[in-house]
Amino acid sequence: MHYETRFCSHCGTPLALITQTEDSGDVQRLRCPACGWTHWNNPTPVLAAIVEVDGKVLLARNAAWPVKMFALITGFMEAGESPQEGIAREVKEETNLDVVSCSLVGAYEFLRMNQVIIAYHVVAEGQVRLSPELVDYRLFDLHELKCWPAGTGYALADWLRTRGHEPVFFTAEENAERRRGLDQPPAKD
Ligand SMILES: [Zn+2]
Repeated sequence: MHYETRFCSHCGTPLALITQTEDSGDVQRLRCPACGWTHWNNPTPVLAAIVEVDGKVLLARNAAWPVKMFALITGFMEAGESPQEGIAREVKEETNLDVVSCSLVGAYEFLRMNQVIIAYHVVAEGQVRLSPELVDYRLFDLHELKCWPAGTGYALADWLRTRGHEPVFFTAEENAERRRGLDQPPAKD
């Protein structure tokens, strides 16, 4: 479902494209002609985790994805939590694993979805029990991992380099095969 912001979230007036002078100069944005509210359309922060369990990396498959598509654990950051708390919550909710340590890998763009991905490497322990949102997972040795050309795939590549592994990316054909049958753009890849 794609939602479009058409009304002022403060007073309900239909928004209009209005040019105003901002720090960077004259900028046209959706603004409220009645109360002045601006629809900034800032990217949404999404948390992603490279989950390490017993020295292997857990990748999971979302119920909505093709059978060959496995990726990092991701989720939206919620109000009132730090990114570190948020990623520990997501890992627990989606895999039942407890995060014992957490370090930042980096921040990555996901322009198509207007998201910014904040990626962590987490070491986790416990028994894997997937949430209904996920249908399958695999544990990979580091040398078995292949990266994909999207924000979370670049995060995985950057992390592998820190572990002394030169990352291998899926070829264009392999990536097309991996994504085959993806009916709609994934919320996060
Ligand atoms: Zn308004």
